[in-house]
Amino acid sequence: MQTIDHDVIIVGAGPTGLMLAAELALAGVDAAIVERKPTQARVGGRAGGLHARTLELLDQRGIVDRFLAQGKTHPRVSFHAALDIRDFPTRHNYLLALPQERTERLLAAWADELHVPVYRDLEVGAIACYADGVDVATAQGKALCARWLVGCDGGRSVVRKLAGIGFPGWEASTSWLIAEVRMTEKPVLGFREDAAGRHAMSMLEDGETVGVVLAGRAPDATGEPSLDELAAGLKAVYGTDFGVHSPAWLSRFSDATRQADAYRKGRILLAGDAAHIHPPLGGQGLNLGIQDAVNLGWKLAQVVKGMSPDALLDTYQAERHPAAERVLRNTIAQGVLRRPDARTAVLGEFVAEMLAMDEPRKRFGGMISGLDIRYDLGYDLGDGHPLLGRRMPDLDIATADGPARVFALLHDARQVLLNFERPGAFALEDGGERIALIDATFDGVCELPVIGVVPLPAAVLIRPDGYVAWAGDADDAGLPTALQAWCGVRSLGIR
Ligand SMILES: Cc1cc2nc3c(=O)[nH]c(=O)nc-3n(C[C@H](O)[C@H](O)[C@H](O)COP(=O)(O)OP(=O)(O)OC[C@H]3O[C@@H](n4cnc5c(N)ncnc54)[C@H](O)[C@@H]3O)c2cc1C
Repeated sequence: MQTIDHDVIIVGAGPTGLMLAAELALAGVDAAIVERKPTQARVGGRAGGLHARTLELLDQRGIVDRFLAQGKTHPRVSFHAALDIRDFPTRHNYLLALPQERTERLLAAWADELHVPVYRDLEVGAIACYADGVDVATAQGKALCARWLVGCDGGRSVVRKLAGIGFPGWEASTSWLIAEVRMTEKPVLGFREDAAGRHAMSMLEDGETVGVVLAGRAPDATGEPSLDELAAGLKAVYGTDFGVHSPAWLSRFSDATRQADAYRKGRILLAGDAAHIHPPLGGQGLNLGIQDAVNLGWKLAQVVKGMSPDALLDTYQAERHPAAERVLRNTIAQGVLRRPDARTAVLGEFVAEMLAMDEPRKRFGGMISGLDIRYDLGYDLGDGHPLLGRRMPDLDIATADGPARVFALLHDARQVLLNFERPGAFALEDGGERIALIDATFDGVCELPVIGVVPLPAAVLIRPDGYVAWAGDADDAGLPTALQAWCGVRSLGIR
């Protein structure tokens, strides 16, 4: 093994890698990114927006306003039908339309502020894993070494392949051609359905470039499509090729759906598309990746800093694998509902009718927006408080320092023990530097998306990712277990 260069090397400066790097830097860990592209510029559109839970995570770090300033909010998310989430109890009860390139640039700027080194123009081609570190070699001849390696290198992840991690799933059954082009004829904007599927054309912000999506392409189509292929496809669907010319880019995507069978192998971890791929229905992939990063970041930081045993990293797979699996399954279901045959259309009508009802709308809206996630904390939740394993709502509380929002307490990614009981009910004997103990009062309603109003517990332990690890009062015997499991702290004095 070579000399250690960084605590953590992240392969890939996509949204997942950038978010993870920033989370690690925020926790004081020396993390660096290796990226094969020379700049952050992204050719070709991908994700169109950020969902409510992702926005909440950015809000927890105090950077959401940067994203809101550049995007446009829409009150509906999509699962087969448009689902209005305006009545969801969150400050971000919408989808933020924001092109992926802007999301990446904002994340890159944040990582830069946190002094994350990004080694560009370097393509990772080989790795060697040892008991206490990982060597990384690039095609350009640069060698690096880190204690931990995280593959955030997209669906074709080299890290995943080199680590020998399986990627089982569903082969593509169809594919789409996607492009941004100019046209000499007037485009037919909106959707068009035929036996091949649902095609679409939209006018971009500049008023001249047309976004085109053609469905029903061969499942095994690979490589960058040509302008001729696009022109022929347009002619087959619309009867004209609209005089298509000057492509900004042309690409494809398919409904292949796969998930890594392990998110960790020794000192190698996977996150984002490297760990899961699925068709972009409902616009969830980038959101999943950012949420993986926020789940992994603080755990890896605690392990690197020796605060927690590396078994804490197993909870990353235990929590995020099921979360992604659920998204994979919902995209498969959405794909089937889009099949262009008359019988499926009838099924789709019934599903749409069901989704117009209040309860299903809330459930599916909660799922697509990521607000309904409940992590299995590894201990029996039994009759436990409904907040356990769920996101802590952003309550407006009063503290000794004045009014505060719960999310603001998470800006520096620390553990927070929020005490609503009598002030001073808890005292930290061990781990005071790891846990912010805050006495607070709250006189509003504590409401969870999908679930509804829940009682306010006497106290809550909120993890750096904003999920509740414990809820109870000062006498609750579960608190030491939770403190040890999530904070690596043994004792907390209770007055
Ligand atoms: C058509 C389309 C529409 C989509 N729409 C949405 C949407 O609306 N909402 C949504 O949430 N998601 C959407 N997605 C999915 C989203 O784009 C991905 O989930 C997201 O980009 C994943 O981010 P990532 O950082 O995990 O991987 P990527 O974005 O793929 O980034 C991986 C990075 O790793 C680098 N890299 C790869 N290999 C190496 C190597 N060997 N060495 C060094 N660097 C390497 C790459 O250059 C890249 O920068 C869409 C995807 C497609 C195709």
